Formats: sequence, structure tokens, C-alpha cells
Amino acid sequence: MTARMYYDADVDAGALAGRTVAIIGYGSQGHAHALNLHESGVRVIVGLAAGSKSRALAEEAGLEVRTVAEAVKAADVIMILVPDTAQKAVYDAEIEPNLRPGQLLMFAHGFNIHFKRIVPPASVDVGMVAPKGPGHLVRSVYQAGGGVPALFAVHQDPSGTGRARTLAYARALGNTRAGVLETTFAEETETDLFGEQSVLCGGTASLVKMAFETLVEAGYQPELAYFETMHELKLIVDLLYRGGLNFMRFSVSDTAEYGDYVSGPRIIDESVRARMREVLAEIQDGSFAARWIEENDTGRAEFERLRAQDRDHQIEQVGAELRAQMPFLNPVVVSAGAAQASAGRPGGGS
Ligand code: NAD
Ligand code: MG
Repeated sequence: MTARMYYDADVDAGALAGRTVAIIGYGSQGHAHALNLHESGVRVIVGLAAGSKSRALAEEAGLEVRTVAEAVKAADVIMILVPDTAQKAVYDAEIEPNLRPGQLLMFAHGFNIHFKRIVPPASVDVGMVAPKGPGHLVRSVYQAGGGVPALFAVHQDPSGTGRARTLAYARALGNTRAGVLETTFAEETETDLFGEQSVLCGGTASLVKMAFETLVEAGYQPELAYFETMHELKLIVDLLYRGGLNFMRFSVSDTAEYGDYVSGPRIIDESVRARMREVLAEIQDGSFAARWIEENDTGRAEFERLRAQDRDHQIEQVGAELRAQMPFLNPVVVSAGAAQASAGRPGGGS
């Protein structure tokens, strides 16, 4: 099966001509969407809370800023780019009371629609453009003339123009330069959560930590263990990114390739597949979402405990010292949840 991809030439940019887009939030995704759309010739209003620290940043970048309520009233299209856990409160207080028939309400991730935290009125169109990359890349790749790929979906389209407007949004954001793929809110939400839990964040972090601990416990130097299990991972991922598993295996030694075939499936074995299926089932039946919503509604004690527990892991201490001697890596020091880097916040979601 080959999925249909949509590129610039497949999309009518005119579907947003003369329209106003409200970008709610000016964080990782928000700044990139607002600036890319603005430079693509779309009228953009950034909607922010009255005392938002982002206001000055957005205004310095030449953007018009209003309160969320005023931005919603002035817009034809509203893109919600506050954190997923904050969306329901912002929607209930400032967005829904100001919606009118024919507007297009948009999301960059399906969580709140799919798990019915937000149920928009039947009179508005609901669409999604979910870039497959963090905000700083959505911005920098666009500035370089490219785009990051994205998924798009239409949840409801009472006006009959929601789909065309959603695609025009993806074009203005630069995504159709790379290709966008149609999905549903259910498929995007479930696969996004599974990807970040099984491989991108959860699986990778646990694999790296366990390999590092195994070497250190066996008496090897922690610095060497860091280079082997974390630093070199980038070199491998870069090969996968450019040419898949075949290019990685073409590039590494035959010894490394043989070890890949005989030891890889012993490390990541059928018991891992069984637990991946369990994790997927908990995403599909809503129990992961219910747990995460409950955690947010009750003060995030477990989340903060887990965060603190890993923050000072030995691999983090050793890695920070080694990276500080490699300024060409543009190393980032993260303390108490705040990242400091010239490149800006690396981006929250995956
Ligand atoms: P973010 O954490 O960067 O925050 C966005 C902005 O919302 C910030 O400027 C913050 O000041 C503002 N904000 C926070 N709480 C608020 C509140 N209560 N009221 C009003 N504003 C508030 O968010 P993000 O990572 O850009 O995520 C936005 C959306 O994009 C989410 O739906 C996310 O799933 C999706 N997404 C993110 C990425 C990514 O890599 N970051 C990738 C694809 C999709
Ligand atoms: Mg993701």
C-alpha cells in the first residue's frame, strides 16, 4: 500500500487568501506557525494570555498580538498551540464562547479531540496539521526553503471548506514542500503516543541507560560508557535518517553488522513485542490518557518525582562534563526543567 502524499502543487493556497489565522500560544510550535504563515502571506494574529511573557517576543518579530478571546473573534481559522494539558482550560474559558459557525478550529496533535476533552460545536470545521518535527525545525527548515513533513486530518467539515483550508494551512507552514499525509485524529494520536513511548523517548532513554549501567557495573570507565551508548547514537541515527537500516549496515563494520543480527534480537526480544502491544492497548483504550489527565488534575506529584529521579542519573553528570568540552556540539545545560541554549528550546513533544 502506498499512501497518497500531498505536495505544494496539489494544494490550493487560495483557500486561505484574505483569511485571518489566530495562533493561540507562542511556544515551540506557536512561534514557528505564526512566523511561517506570516511570511507565506497569511494574516496572522497571535492570541496570548494578558500577562504572557511571549508577548514581547511576538511583537518584536513583527506580529500582531491580542488576547486569546480577541484573536478568536477576529479570525477565520484558529490554531491551538498551547500545551496539550492546558488546552481544555483555555478552550473552555476563551475560545468556545467566541466561536462562530464557519470557523476552522485547528490542532497540531489530536489528543484533546480524540479523547473528547474538547468537543467543538457541530457548526465549526475541525482540522489538524501535525508537523513531524519540533517547532525550531519547523521554523529553520522553512527559512532555508524546505519544510518538515506533516500529517493532516479533518475531524468535521460542516462548511465543506475545512479540508481545503487545512491543506492550505499545511502549505503556508511549509509542510507540503516535504509532503503531507492524510490521517485521522485517532490514528495520529495513538501512533504519536506509541512512537514517543516505545522508541523516540521512552524506549531510547531506557535502552541507553541500561546499556550505560551495564558497562559501568562491569567496571568500565563511565566516560567511555557515555561515548559508546549515548554520544555515538547520533552517528547511527544520522545514517538511519539518510538511508535506513541498509545504509547504517553498509556504513558500519561487518563485525558491528554481525553483532546487530545475532545480539539485537536477544536484547529486544519477543517479550518486548508483547509489552509494546500492552502499551499500545493502554493507549487505544484510553487508560494512558485517563492516567495522564488525572495526574495533571491532581498536582503532577508522580510526574515530578519521576523527573527528579532521572535528572541526576550518572550518565547525565558524566555526559554534561564531556559535552562542555565540545562546544561545537552546541551543548545545552538543562536545570530544573529549563533549557538554556543559543539554539532555543529544543522542543517538548516528539
Ligand atoms: P509549548 O510547551 O512550547 O507551549 C506553547 C505556549 O503555550 C507557550 O508559549 C506557553 O507560554 C503557552 N501556555 C502555556 N500554558 C498556557 C495557558 N494555560 N494558557 C495560555 N497559554 C499557555 O507547546 P508546544 O510544544 O509548542 O505544543 C503545542 C502543540 O503542538 C501541542 O498540541 C503539541 O502536542 C503539538 N506539537 C508539538 C510538537 C513539538 O515538538 N513541540 C510537535 C508536534 C506537535
Ligand atoms: Mg510525535
